[in-house]
Amino acid sequence: MDVYLANPRGFCAGVDLAVDIVELAIKRYGSPIYVKHQIVHNPKVVADVEAIGAITVENVDEVPENSVVVFSAHGSPPSDYQIATERGLTVLDATCPLVTRVHNEAKKYSKQGKKIVLVGHVGHQEVIGTTGQTEMELVDERQDWNLPDWGEDAEVAVLTQTTLSIRDTAAQLDKIKQLYPNAIVRNDICYATTNRQAAAIELAEITELVLVIGAQNSSNCNQLKAVAINKGVPAHLIIGPEELDRSWLEGVQKVGITSGASTPEKQVKAVIESIAPENVYKVGTGEENTVFAIPRGLRNLVGNGDRCKKDEPATDENN
Ligand code: SF4
Repeated sequence: MDVYLANPRGFCAGVDLAVDIVELAIKRYGSPIYVKHQIVHNPKVVADVEAIGAITVENVDEVPENSVVVFSAHGSPPSDYQIATERGLTVLDATCPLVTRVHNEAKKYSKQGKKIVLVGHVGHQEVIGTTGQTEMELVDERQDWNLPDWGEDAEVAVLTQTTLSIRDTAAQLDKIKQLYPNAIVRNDICYATTNRQAAAIELAEITELVLVIGAQNSSNCNQLKAVAINKGVPAHLIIGPEELDRSWLEGVQKVGITSGASTPEKQVKAVIESIAPENVYKVGTGEENTVFAIPRGLRNLVGNGDRCKKDEPATDENN
């Protein structure tokens, strides 16, 4: 049996930054420091940062007064910053800059008096953060939705969650455009989501089974699984070898493996080792060189070159 490994896969620049911020915060302030929401949607990453002194909480008002808190990569609503100020907290903001860009777009369009529509998933942490920025309507493709009748000439701006399915989002954007033909449509699906879905499509075209390594609550992992299924290939989302059902591999010669933007490479490597393939082939061309800057207050803890791209090879790959 051979494994075909998607490139790119795994950690994106936003996740790299968020995990680095927690590690640097502990180095700078000592433990414990608090993390509001899972730093990224992966229980093993959460366990790793908790093992070095982070405490994960769901709400800012659970953080003891005058403590240090890191806000997760998904972004937070302004009310969380307000509560943090009232409690005397030192906030280190690990919001991915690409999510912050969506927040800024929302505020800009709101100031211009436009009606704002966000395409995203109800209840997802990123959506909670974005909808908190200003008044907007949420469109979730998994549910029936209706937009208010603002009139044909209404000025409408459409934003999207960064980790959605490219295919499903395009369909939603078309529907919104039919209602409001003059709408400004910003496609905010990020580079990491786009590249991983493109590589997953290539993977599904040449394999008989796709394994997505990552967490069930990771939006971009679920989209990678959906991409493979949409190409007619069975696909499973697993956190590691402990969730691998050997019956899936029976009679399969070509197994595709990919991982979401919140999945560390060691989880991919563990699954490959458990399968013990004869060969590992790389699929996709996706080299990524995006790196986001550390917040100013922590920069003095970072040596020159410490934050170059972490692109550790998973295993020996045959090209
Ligand atoms: S998936 Fe995209 S938006 Fe989310 S943290 Fe990574 S780069 Fe940022």
